[in-house]
Amino acid sequence: MTAGKFEIKAYPEMWKDLDMDVERFDKMRLMLGDIYEKTYLSQKNRPSGMAYFDNMIAEIHGGRIKELLAAKKEGKPVIGTFCVYIPEEIVLAAGGVCVGLCGGSQGSVPDAEKILPRNICPMVKSAFGFKAGRICPYFQAVDLVYGETTCDAKKKTWEILDNMVSTYVMEIPQMKKQTDQDMWLAEVKEFKTKVESLAGKEVMLEELNRAVKTMNNKRKALQRINMLRHTNPTPISGKDVLLIEQIAFYDEPVRFTEKVGELCDELEQRIQDGVAVPGKNAARVMVAGVPMALPNWKLHNLVEGAGAVIVNEESCIGTRYYKDLMDEDGEDIETILQNLTRRYMQIDCSCFTPNNERIDQVLKEYRESDAHGIIHYSLQFCHTYNVEEIRIREACEKENIPYMFIESDYSPEDVGQLQTRVEAFLEQISG
Ligand code: SF4
Ligand code: SF4
Repeated sequence: MTAGKFEIKAYPEMWKDLDMDVERFDKMRLMLGDIYEKTYLSQKNRPSGMAYFDNMIAEIHGGRIKELLAAKKEGKPVIGTFCVYIPEEIVLAAGGVCVGLCGGSQGSVPDAEKILPRNICPMVKSAFGFKAGRICPYFQAVDLVYGETTCDAKKKTWEILDNMVSTYVMEIPQMKKQTDQDMWLAEVKEFKTKVESLAGKEVMLEELNRAVKTMNNKRKALQRINMLRHTNPTPISGKDVLLIEQIAFYDEPVRFTEKVGELCDELEQRIQDGVAVPGKNAARVMVAGVPMALPNWKLHNLVEGAGAVIVNEESCIGTRYYKDLMDEDGEDIETILQNLTRRYMQIDCSCFTPNNERIDQVLKEYRESDAHGIIHYSLQFCHTYNVEEIRIREACEKENIPYMFIESDYSPEDVGQLQTRVEAFLEQISG
């Protein structure tokens, strides 16, 4: 795709059928297209395998929506999600589709603030605003939204959201004791029953095993690309990998895995040929913290705009989504569900207490990514990540790891101030 020609394709008829605010949405579409062009297509020396992902963005409001609507027509459940705690294997095994709903845009925040309190996390407000303003075709297309109890802002928002779209809530434990695991297994079983009733069929052993493999393959492809970018100098920009990690939440999983695999082959070739992005002496930064939902590219844009490269995201839009695999070829459904529960209990979201695993994981990923420093990124009013940041900072100080903390939202207001801080940090780690 050539710079200067990028446009997110318009599907006004389909949007009208989905009961969207078409006029307003079309303006957002043009704005997103401009931002994408400036943020992504202006990068130099991108791998050619990124063309597929550029096209996924060009078709974000059309091509993929058509696929979801076709799935619905066949009676397959389409479930909107916000958290990596959804047991996707069960949805896939029932023939259904999971789509991550966007919550990374300032554009939908004012819609939410008409209803929700202002001083809650921008991710919750952005996501809610997309539904309240009828400005997201995914939200309009889903049969059900999957919510969870990981934080208070989300937990209470689901009650309000349920008035607009059917919202199913799973209780996520806050500790990892045996009683918590037992409780979560019971929640997983109840979720399976819910999905089966939506799909109108029972989840069978063969399908569940196939779904486990599909998800493992997808996670392995993401692990592979993350490992390749750890090469110093790195063959792909952090912005591009972030984009792939964001698209992972809404693309068809088998096709996505194949395309990430093709891109990885190209990156291996680039490594052999010594092709580096952005340059051999660029400062290498690891980001840890809250998920960066599409289209939140603010921090990556700032860091890479200043000449550095981001080489890892310890985040749910990042390693927290794909670091853990599941045992394959379970002999019966009960065993698979137990394996699944165990796998999901390894997620080290800051909603858990204690959460020592996350501190260890951040340090491990820092070493593996050959980064020069860590930026911990939190969203405003996210109490769990903001408080856990203290422990991450202490661990970095102990290990002499250069460290910076950024707390932000989606508005452009703090960009100038953040830019100054990021540049000072990069100077510190480049020296
Ligand atoms: S940070 Fe926690 S609540 Fe948010 S998506 Fe990740 S696991 Fe879910
Ligand atoms: S970033 Fe924090 S406050 Fe926002 S939804 Fe996630 S856990 Fe909740």
